[in-house]
Amino acid sequence: MIIDGTAVALQLRAELGEEIDALQERGILPGVATVLAGGDYGARLYRRQIERVATEAGIAYRDLTLPADVTLADVVQQVRALSQDPSVHGILLMRPLPPGVPEGPVLEALDPAKDVDGLHPVNAGRLALGAPAVYPATAWACFELLDRYFRGAGLDPVRAFEGKELVIVGRSNSVGKPAYFLALQRHATPTTVHSYTSKAGLLAAHTRLADILIVAMGKPEFIKADMVKPGAIVVDVGINMVPVLDASGQPVADEKGRPKRRTVGDVAFDEVSRVAAAITPVPGGVGAVTNLLLLKNVIRAARAAAGRSKLRREGFL
Ligand code: NAP
Repeated sequence: MIIDGTAVALQLRAELGEEIDALQERGILPGVATVLAGGDYGARLYRRQIERVATEAGIAYRDLTLPADVTLADVVQQVRALSQDPSVHGILLMRPLPPGVPEGPVLEALDPAKDVDGLHPVNAGRLALGAPAVYPATAWACFELLDRYFRGAGLDPVRAFEGKELVIVGRSNSVGKPAYFLALQRHATPTTVHSYTSKAGLLAAHTRLADILIVAMGKPEFIKADMVKPGAIVVDVGINMVPVLDASGQPVADEKGRPKRRTVGDVAFDEVSRVAAAITPVPGGVGAVTNLLLLKNVIRAARAAAGRSKLRREGFL
């Protein structure tokens, strides 16, 4: 079975619309800002994507673009100013930052309540402790898809993870690590594997044990059918561009003579879908859901900010 991220995205979009309408009835307009420093292509592309999805959803959008030669002190000062602006409920740092601007101090300059990427040490720490936290959207998207898949299969998503072997390939701060803690919250038995597991020749030994396999490694079609337990549920986070090849294995060119490319995941979809019970496709899987959950974090942040203002007005804060 294919776990259809596009269909889940449609449901989520409708749910978010209702949440935004309810906030607007209370006079609250959720707002998100992106901070882009320098001209990294991927970061600019992602900024435009956020602007589009936020605007389409009816969330106010603010762009802060800084030059590539910006200093750490300038970025920190701008992020602090956004953190104090009551019309901005969520702040997203476009990465990579320019060389010479380390990410750590910039992230720590964010108000954790506005860190809708869930990367501030306070949010990462809260997630690790099992306390209420902002979840990094990509890791959350994996579990949102799984929860809805289980519900669709007539299972209680709260019970469906209990005691299951859940293997995560990748340990990045934005995907692999938060996925580990989200799995623990659901009482699964998570295992994280990474490049050193591969170097030790042990990757497949781990992935083959997984009842649920989440793959976030950034390696095109790396996970093959013989690395997956028959009947496993596979969530493919990877987004990789690869050349389109013709029947003889030669690269195909587009009308302008440039090599044609297509998007694939970290999992060899065709062969793995024959052994897995369920699998997310790429595109149309995790990626379809991630940005909407990011907006959900903005909406939650706006609601929480309104709650804090009320308590302040009433003298409780
Ligand atoms: P990342 O920061 O580069 O981390 C990759 C992880 O994979 C690392 O922990 C690395 O291990 C591990 N790894 C690499 N090669 C490996 C190997 N041969 N065997 C085992 N583990 C290996 O990447 P990321 O940000 O987590 O992203 C992962 C993928 O998800 C990328 O394709 C990215 O484009 C995609 N992504 C998708 C979304 C979405 O919305 N769908 C969002 C974010 C990212 P080490 O730690 O040992 O180096």
